[in-house]
Amino acid sequence: MTSRSAACSCGQLHLSIEGEPSRISMCHCLECQRRTGAVISNQARFRREQVTFGGKAMAWMRTAESGNALTFHFCPTCGSTIYWEGEGFPGYVAVAIGSFADPNFPAPMIGVWEESRHAWLSLPPDTPPKPCRSMTGSQFGASLLSRVSAGHYADRRGPSARSSSAS
Ligand SMILES: [Zn+2]
Ligand SMILES: [Zn+2]
Repeated sequence: MTSRSAACSCGQLHLSIEGEPSRISMCHCLECQRRTGAVISNQARFRREQVTFGGKAMAWMRTAESGNALTFHFCPTCGSTIYWEGEGFPGYVAVAIGSFADPNFPAPMIGVWEESRHAWLSLPPDTPPKPCRSMTGSQFGASLLSRVSAGHYADRRGPSARSSSAS
């Protein structure tokens, strides 16, 4: 089974994880942009029992637009947020992909909050489009079509997917 380690900048807060993630996503929401300081948040979800927690963490909670609480765990020394849990995905832990410091970590399968995406960012070109839960298939198709015809995806082989779920 694959074993991976994730850690904060100073190494004080660290996780050991067994097995593969069940979901790998990127989030373009403004909250994630503020939290990370980057223009995108990337995260992988693991079942809680796959994760061994080490070091001291502090927690900060915010309410997602869905109304679900999200609790972010960060290192009190260096401030890196390593993992978070949410009422929207009980039993799972989302881990910041950058914390693995592994350029070979699998690519995201889904992008959310596409509406606040920086124009130069997209999912890997081979990612299949995935309709979001808040849109019907035909709405998604229509919105896709209008963007494709507007040249929005002119430089890409496929559209990035979006969904209404929290990251
Ligand atoms: Zn640290
Ligand atoms: Zn986000």
